[in-house]
Amino acid sequence: MPLGLLLAAARALAAEMPRVDPDGATAKSLNYTHASPDADKRCANCQFYTDPGRSDWGPCVIFPGQLVNADGLCNSYFKRAGRTAASTRRAFGEFDGRIGTCRRSAVS
Ligand code: SF4
Repeated sequence: MPLGLLLAAARALAAEMPRVDPDGATAKSLNYTHASPDADKRCANCQFYTDPGRSDWGPCVIFPGQLVNADGLCNSYFKRAGRTAASTRRAFGEFDGRIGTCRRSAVS
């Protein structure tokens, strides 16, 4: 089956999943909210948001079988790597082109 069809099928199945209830036990324990107070930290750019192509509601490994809001946030947030050169440098350090010279810079 072509990959495009598999992705479309997965998205159709995901559309059927219920949305996370912020008052549910797991959501409360992780302080999940549908509206992040920090514009730079959102489910849509979290490592655990498994379908970054979805800009409304999408799946998260922390809440299996449910959808989280792309603008949401919880205490398990972990910024997805590789989004910007700056975030890559923060995560993996600087590289000056010589083997063995990669230095990890302070994480801000
Ligand atoms: S781990 Fe938390 S912040 Fe990350 S996608 Fe899931 S609910 Fe959103």
